Amino acid sequence: VTAQIIDGRKIAEKLKADVAEEIGLLRAEGASCCLATIGVGDDYAAKAYQRRLRRISDELEVTCNQIALPESTTQDELLAVVDHLNRDPAVNGILLLRPLPRHIEEAEVFAALSPVKDIEALHPQNAGLLALGVPRYVPSTAASVFHVLDTWVDETGEERDAFYQRSRIVVVGRSNNVGKPAVSLAYERRAAVLSIEEWTSRDNRLGSHTRRADVLIVATGVPGLIRAEHVRSGAVVLDVGINPIRDRDSGVIRMVGDVAFEEVAARARAITPVPGGIGPVTDVWLLRNTATAVRNQQMGDLR
Ligand code: NDP
Repeated sequence: VTAQIIDGRKIAEKLKADVAEEIGLLRAEGASCCLATIGVGDDYAAKAYQRRLRRISDELEVTCNQIALPESTTQDELLAVVDHLNRDPAVNGILLLRPLPRHIEEAEVFAALSPVKDIEALHPQNAGLLALGVPRYVPSTAASVFHVLDTWVDETGEERDAFYQRSRIVVVGRSNNVGKPAVSLAYERRAAVLSIEEWTSRDNRLGSHTRRADVLIVATGVPGLIRAEHVRSGAVVLDVGINPIRDRDSGVIRMVGDVAFEEVAARARAITPVPGGIGPVTDVWLLRNTATAVRNQQMGDLR
């Protein structure tokens, strides 16, 4: 392995200290901080994410109200739960866990979220503000990718502006919750940006795009999609994927990324591991957004 392995846990710890301070200030002012999560169905990764959020919320003394709904939940039932949380003055932030069952019309549920409680910026108003470069909330995963990258750049000693302006950033995966917000954040930093999804990567076209990247951000949910042949020597690789893989012999489930770590690490300048890369930072960022929601609500932003 020649790449520098970026320690996401260390970056998360530092961020957590800052967020704990902000939450402490809120508490001193008599304000409580409450995150509500809604999970529909039985997705393994979503359940694991909820467990991590429970742990970190307890640590930061944030109330974490986790609502688990069955796979059979109808659109109307889900909308009723969202409406209830929107109206509950004790709830500051709402996280809708993905994936949602196929019969749920995601866009309608996103539009039903109270914009001020929509800490993942999925409501059209928040998604629009983010695309315009004036976000109310920056979605936690994309925010974490760039927090990790900013931190790494700072540690190299290069000026952030200079780094981004000379860099081509390629984002593989274009979901509303990760890929698209990541592209918006790359625009904001005035990098050259290329966005790739499944269609654009067909017929062996993936490598012709990704090999142009100085910074490669991968969020596809396809374990090991990015191989050494897809990466330019000296690139910085940020692996967002968290994919549960069951070991055939032992039956034990472990998490792997979208990047074939060992072989890509042999080519890259720096790389985030899975686990221990982007994930731990994302968890903290969500609570940071919850604290921001409390402040927004204090300031009379009550939509
Ligand atoms: P989605 O399934 O919503 O989106 C996946 C995206 O990847 C789509 O745009 C899809 O293209 C694209 N894609 C799929 N296959 C390929 C391919 N072969 N080549 C290029 N693009 C492809 O997933 P999410 O964005 O929600 O999550 C992605 C990964 O990130 C998952 O492993 C998830 O568990 C993980 N994750 C990690 C987080 C963290 O904190 N580290 C937080 C959130 C997610 P198309 O649009 O054509 O379908």
